[in-house]
Amino acid sequence: MPKALVHDPLPDRRWRQSFRRKLLAWFNRHQRDLPWRRSQDPYRIWLSEIMLQQTQVATVTAYYQRFLSRFPTISALAGAEETDVLRQWEGLGYYRRARQLHAAAKRIVAEHGGRFPRDLHMMEKLPGIGRYTAGAIASIAFDVRAPILEANTVRLHSRLLGFRGDPTSVPGQRLLWRFAEAILPKRGSGDLNQALMELGSLICTPRAPCCEACPVRSLCPTQIGGWQDVIPAPKRKTKFENVREAAVVVRRSGKVLLRKRSDGERWAGLWDFVRFPLCALRGDDLTRELSQKVYEQVGVKIQPGQLRTTIQHAVTRFRITLECFECAYLSGATTASRRASMAWVTPCRLGEYPLSASGRKLAVLIASWGVLEE
Ligand code: SF4
Repeated sequence: MPKALVHDPLPDRRWRQSFRRKLLAWFNRHQRDLPWRRSQDPYRIWLSEIMLQQTQVATVTAYYQRFLSRFPTISALAGAEETDVLRQWEGLGYYRRARQLHAAAKRIVAEHGGRFPRDLHMMEKLPGIGRYTAGAIASIAFDVRAPILEANTVRLHSRLLGFRGDPTSVPGQRLLWRFAEAILPKRGSGDLNQALMELGSLICTPRAPCCEACPVRSLCPTQIGGWQDVIPAPKRKTKFENVREAAVVVRRSGKVLLRKRSDGERWAGLWDFVRFPLCALRGDDLTRELSQKVYEQVGVKIQPGQLRTTIQHAVTRFRITLECFECAYLSGATTASRRASMAWVTPCRLGEYPLSASGRKLAVLIASWGVLEE
């Protein structure tokens, strides 16, 4: 790599001025009309930033509008039941985000009188708000000169710097944050930050970036050197693991059993059918395992029944085959400690409970299993 093209350590003032001018001119002409761009309300910006983590813009738009009409203010969100918040989030995944959003709203009401704090450090003390989210809210809502670094800008900045190292390493992160800060203007950081994310998302894409349409191509060492395929350094491939699990629909007098998943579990705060990793394949071993694990999880005895359906789904690096059994309740009283986290629900009311995507799929199928209605 010709060293002269790599910014070492950071681009000079002339480069930065030219870069900002070209980028902002492009952004003014080409930015998408996204609902959260029509407001400087920190609550709306915060909500959009949290929803956009790990999720595509097209998916977020509908959720964002629905969530806001249900919880139009921080106070409304803080006063809601967690089950209601999770129900509105259902399908977006990464439910921890919703729980942290809810917890942070409560803190803002309790500690800041319901007004979003303007101070970056105070923002970062709130659950679920890290340096990136705080920077986005502070710069967009309050015009604070705060940098941001997320997936799109990690890739964009690596290319603008001609940085071939690992962007997730400590030195890589340090360099990229320094660059993100250095390119900000004295005023209007919010616009610049949004323009950077937009450029990364629309033009400087992971594969085959559209360099010919890029407003800053003449300033980009990666484009000049033809290194688009090697910057940023490719990530290690995820190794997927196949897993087999059981979901047990325990039925009793026309109702089915749900349990609330507890802290520390996958999908904490959501409701679910009794679910566990499954070892036995068939026969008595399978019957024994179903009975034993249902008892361990919810304290009720069952009469194991038939395999009703199989659902394939994925969670992070796990590819899960979920075998869904319908079983009859035999006996067992739920203890007081368990009662708050268990519910017997008629199939037609399953829609009131927040479930994971696979849980919802099963809930919809159950509604068609007429046999449950006694
Ligand atoms: S010129 Fe190409 S590689 Fe460089 S920032 Fe633009 S799109 Fe990305």
